[in-house]
Parts: sequence; C-alpha cells; structure tokens
Amino acid sequence: MPELPDLEVVRDILSPRIVGQAVRGVEVNRPDLLRTGEGSVSLLVRKELHAIGRRGKYLLFSFGPEAHLLVHLMRWGWLWHGPHGYTPTTATQLRLMFDDGSDLRLIEARSPYLAAAWVVPDPKTAEPLRGLGVEPLSAEFTPEVLRHLIAGKRRPLKRFLTDQSLIAGIGNAYADEILFRARLSPVRYTHTLTEDELDRLWHAIGEALRWAIREIRARVGDVLFDREVRDFLFVHGKKGDPCRECGTPIAEILFEDARTNYCPRCQGPRVAPPLRRG
Ligand SMILES: [Zn+2]
Repeated sequence: MPELPDLEVVRDILSPRIVGQAVRGVEVNRPDLLRTGEGSVSLLVRKELHAIGRRGKYLLFSFGPEAHLLVHLMRWGWLWHGPHGYTPTTATQLRLMFDDGSDLRLIEARSPYLAAAWVVPDPKTAEPLRGLGVEPLSAEFTPEVLRHLIAGKRRPLKRFLTDQSLIAGIGNAYADEILFRARLSPVRYTHTLTEDELDRLWHAIGEALRWAIREIRARVGDVLFDREVRDFLFVHGKKGDPCRECGTPIAEILFEDARTNYCPRCQGPRVAPPLRRG
C-alpha cells in the first residue's frame, strides 16, 4: 500500500505533466469506486487542474475552489498517465481525459477492489479527510505535538505510528523504518518512552520519510511506478537479512495482522507492558 513517501513522489512526477490541463471527459468503469456517486464526476468536466496535493494517504486533485477529486489507492491501486489513444486495459477503473490528449487512469488489477475516490466541493470538510491527524512533514508537527499525541496513551509504538487519526500518512512499512531509525522496538508501549526516546522518535519520523522520498525518486526518475519501490529499506520486508548496522538477522512478527520487521539487537528486547499498579 502506498504511504506518504510513495505518494509524494507520484505527486511530484504528475504535477508538471497535468497541472494546468483541463478535463474534457471522465469515464468511470467501476461505479462503486466513486463514493460520492457516479454522477459527481460531472463537477470536474471542463475544469482546469490547479494543483495536486496530498493529505495522509490521499491524493487531492484540485480543480478550482468547488471541485476536488480525492483518491485513495489502497492496496493495489496505481496511477497511469499517458496518451489517450493507448487502449485502456480492463483494470482501468477511472479515466480522466485531458485537453492535451493525455489520460490519467486509476488502475486496479486485482480484487478485492479497494481503491476509492470522492468528488467533493470542499476537501476540508470531506468525510475521508476530516478525521486525519497531523502531517508529519509539516511545520506543525513539532516535538511538542508528538509529546502531546503520546500523552496518556498506552499502546505499542507500531500501532501509535500507523493510527491515521493521530499522524497521517505512515503505514506498515515506514512505521518499521522509523522505529529502526529511532532504535525503538515496535512493541514498546508509548507510555514507557523517556524524554530522550521521544526526541529520537520525533527526529526519526521526519528523517525516515524525507530519506524515503529521495530514495524512491532517485530510483524511478520521472516514471510513474505501479508498485512500491522498497528495495532500499533497512528492515521492512527484510526478514532474515543481516541488519545493516549490527549483522543480526532481521526479525518478523505478525502484529495485528501486519507484518512487522525489526532488528532484535538494535531495537532492544521486546518490552512487555509494565504491570498495572494498585
Ligand atoms: Zn541491528
């Protein structure tokens, strides 16, 4: 599933290609993809794309003040941009046709079909974005904000980092990378962190995400990719490989149905939650 770094790169690649283009038509091939109803796409027709933004794991295509297309690629979805004349495959779920003769297509080749899109007049009040937490690469996300988010919570760090209502955009893979960088175990509980560890976690969040954006961009160039580029990661998906810091084999646990990888040595022993007092 694409996470913040993947989506930032997609946004960066797509923006110079289609921002400024007007939509001449929209084709919806899987009506349930559009959560605002199939007819809602008419809002986009003859409008010019002003900007492509991102909020959490959503891409936000803004066609002026009253028309915004939100896209969540979920597990298997990806975006394709190319000539209109290129015959769409049966996996094409949504097709935006631009004035310059290019198409932006949302492709989802395998079921269950989970990708979703919304056409909304105001993204700020739109259902999927309303409950999202802070953007971890924004100036708003200070160490103080992290301290505030963690205060009073008793939950494993992996679950804390992937909770979209607290911090938006971090998923399974980058939570593992952040925790490796912070030298913290994914099963450490939030309320056991010292001030030093909190500080390390805050730095690791920004560093890991920025590093990933650079690494992905360096690998894909200007080519839109149809699967996540993850070869450069330190721990996620690296079960059994030697840790690049200490050589210990990377461990894997299934944590709340998600594959979680970590270095047992660099990230310390698994710390059980302390006994309740009183
Ligand atoms: Zn290690």
